Amino acid sequence: MTAPASIVAKRSLAGLGRTELALVLAEIGVPEREHKMRVAQLWHWIYFRGVRDFAEMSSVSKLLRARLAEHFTLERPEVVVEQVSADGTRKWLIRLPADNPGERPHEVECVYIPESDRGTLCVSSQVGCTLNCSFCHTGTQRLVRNLTAAEIVTQVMIARDKLHEWPGMTPPEGSIVPSGDRYVSNIVFMGMGEPLYNFDGVKNAIETIVDGEGLSIGKRRITVSTSGIVPEIARLGDEVGTLLAISLHATRDDLRDELVPINKKYPIRELLDACRTFPGASNARRITFEYVMLKGVNDTPADARALVKLLKGIPAKINLIPFNPWPGTKYECSDWETIEKFSEIVFKAGYASPVRKPRGRDILAACGQLKSETQKLSARERMALRAMAMTD
Ligand code: SAH
Ligand code: SF4
Repeated sequence: MTAPASIVAKRSLAGLGRTELALVLAEIGVPEREHKMRVAQLWHWIYFRGVRDFAEMSSVSKLLRARLAEHFTLERPEVVVEQVSADGTRKWLIRLPADNPGERPHEVECVYIPESDRGTLCVSSQVGCTLNCSFCHTGTQRLVRNLTAAEIVTQVMIARDKLHEWPGMTPPEGSIVPSGDRYVSNIVFMGMGEPLYNFDGVKNAIETIVDGEGLSIGKRRITVSTSGIVPEIARLGDEVGTLLAISLHATRDDLRDELVPINKKYPIRELLDACRTFPGASNARRITFEYVMLKGVNDTPADARALVKLLKGIPAKINLIPFNPWPGTKYECSDWETIEKFSEIVFKAGYASPVRKPRGRDILAACGQLKSETQKLSARERMALRAMAMTD
């Protein structure tokens, strides 16, 4: 038996691409000859102005606004926890509706990091991750599914909502605002999931995010981070054109097999070959190599020298990431002195300030950890956090 129309949740148009919007218009009987013009109108209101109510779309006829409101919404997925760090970092835990009635909803997270010259949004591409890197908490999470393009785009929209970054809005009190005119100026796919295992979702989301009539965040300000899915790397350069980051973390295959098990399938040599031929890489558009500092595992001066040697000839940046511990992990973060020594060797080889500052330490650590913390909360605590999130 089908449910009566009144209790079937209306679909949200937030996050949809131009083709999907045209289909939506067809569904409610808008003639095809009008699609292009109507999609352009919707696009402006959804992605340039960020409206959440069809009634505000003053350039759209009243009749169409009413029809749209009858069938659809502009709601974003619910933010169940928001945390704001003293350094301005903000984390949002976002709840996605369950795939089937009776199932648990999914949760993903999104982190905003303001700096003096940029505001970077770290987005998720999957719920969980299938790859099980041994130092990564996301890899231990059971449930995995790809996010839809819309679910990726709405992370950017939520950040803009929360930072009041739509035309005519002023930022929330006490915000740390980067110089320049954008709060969210850069995007990194470094949240939950392996973006190159969700190639189409990520590609379509990026198409919407870079669109100059809407969110308009340039491709050169978007970085896709991968654990090294070699066959998809060239495709990313050819078809998407963003910057690339590689989670390297080790310079020898035996160690990388352990830390990043996908290395058994795509070993270091093949990975670096894909980097050497990455379309568009140049000194102006370097590939970032991420290297997590694990005490007694990959952090000796010899490791640093091996890293520099390995990357010779590749237009590269090196990001040393202090390991963020999580409950139950067998790893520890390298001592600060060890990190400094490592960093000095890398610096002397010509790579500028390679250590990534830990941000938002006071509100919980890296991506993947906000979710695990909330799973430990009591129902009552969750409610309180939820209420807090809703007062924004
Ligand atoms: N799956 C992709 C992107 C998400 S992970 C990838 O692996 O590149 C983003 C970055 O965070 C990766 O470099 C990953 O290795 C790193 N990372 C994961 N867990 C971490 C932790 N506990 N501490 C520090 N960095 C971590
Ligand atoms: Fe997945 Fe990246 Fe974590 Fe590895 S580091 S488990 S690829 S999210």
